[in-house]
Amino acid sequence: MTIPNSFLVIGSGPCGTLTVGTILKYFPRVAITWVSKTPFSQLGNFGRYMDVPGNTPVSVITKTLRAVPAMNFESAQGNRPSPTLSTWPEDKTCPLGLAIDAYNDASSHLQALPNVETIEATVDDISPCSSSPSSLIASCSSPSSPSPFTVSSSNVFLASGLVPSPPPPTPAHVIPFYTAMSPSSLSSYIKKFSSTCTEFYVTGSSHSGMLAVQNLCNAGVPPSRIKVIHRSPLRYAEAMPDGWTKFDGSGLKGTVAEWCKNDLPPEITFLQTSPDVFASIPSSACVIYSHAWEHESRPSWMGSPLPPHDGYSGTFPKTAADNLHAVGFAFPEMYTDGEGHEEYRVGFNFVFYLHLCRMMERIRSQQPQQ
Ligand SMILES: Cc1cc2nc3c(=O)[nH]c(=O)nc-3n(C[C@H](O)[C@H](O)[C@H](O)COP(=O)(O)OP(=O)(O)OC[C@H]3O[C@@H](n4cnc5c(N)ncnc54)[C@H](O)[C@@H]3O)c2cc1C
Repeated sequence: MTIPNSFLVIGSGPCGTLTVGTILKYFPRVAITWVSKTPFSQLGNFGRYMDVPGNTPVSVITKTLRAVPAMNFESAQGNRPSPTLSTWPEDKTCPLGLAIDAYNDASSHLQALPNVETIEATVDDISPCSSSPSSLIASCSSPSSPSPFTVSSSNVFLASGLVPSPPPPTPAHVIPFYTAMSPSSLSSYIKKFSSTCTEFYVTGSSHSGMLAVQNLCNAGVPPSRIKVIHRSPLRYAEAMPDGWTKFDGSGLKGTVAEWCKNDLPPEITFLQTSPDVFASIPSSACVIYSHAWEHESRPSWMGSPLPPHDGYSGTFPKTAADNLHAVGFAFPEMYTDGEGHEEYRVGFNFVFYLHLCRMMERIRSQQPQQ
């Protein structure tokens, strides 16, 4: 392998953004091409969560941003009117809009750096480069470009995110996922549709599902009309005495966890998931599908579907390309906790930054110093 003279980062959500910043911490002079299908100003799909309550304490979000100088956190926060992450109580969670503002500021700063080139395009395929075996070639397309083009790079980071899966065919009225996550949007929506819905079904009892339930209750839906279709009982993240958090990736956290522990109305019905339960949802019901996600436009590998991702290393072992890496919501880190439970770590916070650092250190150790 040769010295990494270039990186390609795919995706402009918070995980792609922190990846660009962390690359610059390890390889300050490297050339980075940053490609995103959606406009950079949208901050990926994450930018849709402005008034959605987050589940990470502010201190953890700010510790992450401060750890990466290229995110320009302190300076950008000083230019924003309050409330900001810096003025919010550190030990509390916050509306995700405050994190979106900070990551948007970081993204703008990174985009303006002379060694970062941004391109709004879709990466359709990644392949080894025939003329330079240590490089990868990304084939890209864009409505604004008359013909497909390629980007060659010595390391690729894929941070392409996930979108909610489309609901299965149902006669019921489907409430859009992003509407259901936002307390204000769901409240306005319910005002229009509440009288036409006899019952409200929510699929999944993880953070998204229980947030939808909380938002329905706060919008005035009687709890006796809410049914949750779930696979397993509610699970909460637990702070352990020696400093780690049990079920950090899969357990309920933040204000949603507090509400479920203290205020979950007993009239809400929980139904064990099964094909029959889904089939029994009446046409007069409203449904929020919050349990399934899918890749929106994952690139192929040499024209075929990408082989499985290894969540520990962040690579795709079956490609034999140790310079193809993937991170973020679509390719989370697999982690074994202090009690031996394996779970995925989703999010853009400090444990994600540490995962990125391990990946950068591995890249650095595989080649001579620049
Ligand atoms: C209700 C809720 C609350 C949450 N709260 C928190 C929290 O408090 N803390 C936390 O850490 N996490 C939280 N999360 C999780 C967090 O939202 C995700 O981890 C984060 O949005 C993932 O960001 P990402 O960058 O991986 O993906 P995205 O934001 O989905 O960005 C993906 C990007 O990739 C681009 N893309 C996709 N395919 C291609 C392609 N082929 N070519 C080019 N570009 C492509 C897309 O256009 C987009 O720009 C929460 C999630 C939910 C649902």
